[in-house]
Amino acid sequence: AAKTGGRGQHKVFHRLLDIAARERVLLLAQLRQALVRNEFLLHYQPRVRPVDGAIDSAEALIRWQHPEHGLLNPGAFIEAAEAGGLIDEIGLWVLDAACAQIAAWRRQGLALGRVSVNVSPRQLASGELVAQVRDTLARHQVPPQALELEVTESLLVGDARAACAQLGELRSWGVTVALDDFGTGYSSMATLRQLPIDVMKIDRAFVTDLGHDPGAMAIASAIVAMARSLRLHLVAEGIETPAQAAILRDMGCDELQGFFYSRPLPPEAFHLLPRHLVPEASPSQWAGLAP
Ligand code: C2E
Ligand code: MG
Ligand code: MG
Ligand code: MG
Repeated sequence: AAKTGGRGQHKVFHRLLDIAARERVLLLAQLRQALVRNEFLLHYQPRVRPVDGAIDSAEALIRWQHPEHGLLNPGAFIEAAEAGGLIDEIGLWVLDAACAQIAAWRRQGLALGRVSVNVSPRQLASGELVAQVRDTLARHQVPPQALELEVTESLLVGDARAACAQLGELRSWGVTVALDDFGTGYSSMATLRQLPIDVMKIDRAFVTDLGHDPGAMAIASAIVAMARSLRLHLVAEGIETPAQAAILRDMGCDELQGFFYSRPLPPEAFHLLPRHLVPEASPSQWAGLAP
């Protein structure tokens, strides 16, 4: 009886695997269609300079207007896109859409210092990123200084030399490179020092417990000190409370990003944000703009 039960369980298990596999295939087919049907869009989240509250830059974050499921966050599809070999094409779409938006904003007189775009390690591994960025900037007549690329430590997993060489070339034109989600990876200080980056983004994980956890304070101030000594521009992400904003401002973070200031917004709403978001002001002042 035990044997039959075991086989039965096996069957159920296989059926579940089948379903999971079929769902993955379906998702990939839908993602391919999404590219053709132009169902992706970018939202923009401001980065605020705490010394004067100015919005000097923004991060572009992909969304998918799914025909049945509505507006989806990247958590629902980016991993599948990476695994299914679609991230190069999607990444190129993101680059193009962000540069088109930068150009449109510049024409409308909204000149942000920089807009950052998330780049998957696979895009670097393909070896085509440098040419793609060059062509896209040229097509939209966007100066390289207006673009920032966010990469993660996982780029070191593949051919780290080749990835760093590409980033180095992009930086030589004036494109800046940010290390995203800092603190969640495994880089040693030695590798960190050699990475071709301009900006470090402290992961939200270290921001969340600020204000009530002395351990979190200690780690955050150590990261700030490290960024300082490596002469990196420091951005903290995931700021949700005025206390977190005040602490990170006082520690010397260059820019702050998080729901406290604004959620990621469609470009039309981003354009309507006040040019300065003072840390002390109530977020409800612009909450009405959220989608
Ligand atoms: P990320 O690059 O670390 O982006 C920050 C994420 O944190 C965004 O989630 C943002 O909406 C969210 N966030 C910002 N402030 C707060 C806050 O105060 N509290 C909380 N709880 N969350 C906050 P999102 O847009 O869902 O993106 C998730 C991740 O998906 C991104 O993490 C990035 O790794 C990836 N991603 C987004 N857009 C792209 C893209 O165009 N290409 C690639 N390859 N990956 C992307
Ligand atoms: Mg990012
Ligand atoms: Mg991040
Ligand atoms: Mg992240």
